[in-house]
Amino acid sequence: MPDEKNNTHDTPVEIAGAGPAGLAAAITLAHAGCQVIVYETHKEVGHRFGNDFQGLENWTTKEDVLSVLEGQGLTTDFDAVPCHNGVFFDFIGKRHEIKSDETLFYLVERGPGSGTLDSALLRQAQSLGVDVHFNSRLSQMSGEGILAVGPRAADAIAVGYHFETDMADGFWAICDNELAPKGYAYLLVMKGRGTVKSCMFSGFKQEKLYVQRTLEAFQRLVGLEMKNSKPHGGSGNFHIPHSAYSGSHPLVGEQAGFQDTLWGFGMRLAISSGMLAAQSLLNGKNYDTLWQQALKPQMDTSVVNRALYSLMGNRGYSWCLRSLSNKTDLRGSLQRQYQPSLPKRLLAPWARHRHESQRKDVSCDHIDCHCIWCRGGCCDDNLPESKS
Ligand SMILES: Cc1cc2nc3c(=O)[nH]c(=O)nc-3n(C[C@H](O)[C@H](O)[C@H](O)COP(=O)(O)OP(=O)(O)OC[C@H]3O[C@@H](n4cnc5c(N)ncnc54)[C@H](O)[C@@H]3O)c2cc1C
Repeated sequence: MPDEKNNTHDTPVEIAGAGPAGLAAAITLAHAGCQVIVYETHKEVGHRFGNDFQGLENWTTKEDVLSVLEGQGLTTDFDAVPCHNGVFFDFIGKRHEIKSDETLFYLVERGPGSGTLDSALLRQAQSLGVDVHFNSRLSQMSGEGILAVGPRAADAIAVGYHFETDMADGFWAICDNELAPKGYAYLLVMKGRGTVKSCMFSGFKQEKLYVQRTLEAFQRLVGLEMKNSKPHGGSGNFHIPHSAYSGSHPLVGEQAGFQDTLWGFGMRLAISSGMLAAQSLLNGKNYDTLWQQALKPQMDTSVVNRALYSLMGNRGYSWCLRSLSNKTDLRGSLQRQYQPSLPKRLLAPWARHRHESQRKDVSCDHIDCHCIWCRGGCCDDNLPESKS
């Protein structure tokens, strides 16, 4: 772990990875007058998401997430549809409508298109003079730099389809272990396009079966209609490290394992950790101290939330959905669930142990297997060698 020191930035700061974490770091450094070079393996931003829809959660801070981003000097010049209402179904297909006066999350698009979050961050970085090298995989980092290369293991996977549709805009989810073991299935539709996924925390080897069941359930429950559907899937890495350094280089976003362990809302943690790593380089502060103060309490709580959720089973999910659908202040209620509290602090060691011991999917024998965990869950292939 590096000592605190004042950095001079005579040479450009290198950043590996042009995801939200890397670009947020680049923008913060460029705002402070640093020269920054970002290396991105792919020919475009957001390649692994291919115009997926994702939710930018709006419950971990009292202030609206878009004002938070603006206050941090980050662009909000991307398409963001505020979502207040949605429908959840339980394992017997019972409908639970949730309604919130305030925005629960903003539906945003990921990938290289013009209205996406990734493209907006890229435009802002480039307008501040950040040099972004595409088709450029960084294999070694020797000077000052930040590693922002995305997930290194699959603790959860989300698998399904992107498609075009005549369905009205909306979001729907199903909590049923027969469709998405220990997770949830979701359907998001915006302006004639949609994404449907089974987000599972176990059972990866049977991903095809769960996706098929998810499609059938949404067809039956809400009349899912898909045109020009394309398969899409990805993994999420959930881990709270002791130190988020590789040599002297800060690890940010999912490369560090920073994620919302309960549901996989990782974009805000990626952006926040990228900014904290940049500040650590600018101010000579220890990055571990910064993220442990700003992000760890919320991540610790989400590990407890996940441990409790994974114990519930289908009847427990039904009970939760019933109680969520009766809430008048749903955003406030979610905010409280993500805040540290004495009971959650007491449960934290048990939850951490439970989470760590389940990081390998026990339902997979890993032999001659091409499930997402086995394809992407085993290695640090992305990570450039760090020379301190
Ligand atoms: C299917 C799916 C749905 C999701 N839904 C949501 C959601 O609704 N809400 C939410 O908040 N989060 C969601 N997430 C999680 C969210 O996408 C991630 O947490 C977030 O993108 C992490 O950002 P990052 O910058 O750390 O990594 P990434 O976005 O993965 O970016 C890493 C970048 O590094 C590049 N790279 C890799 N290796 C190298 C190298 N050696 N040199 C140079 N470049 C390299 C990659 O090509 C990539 O562009 C979802 C994830 C998946 C898979």
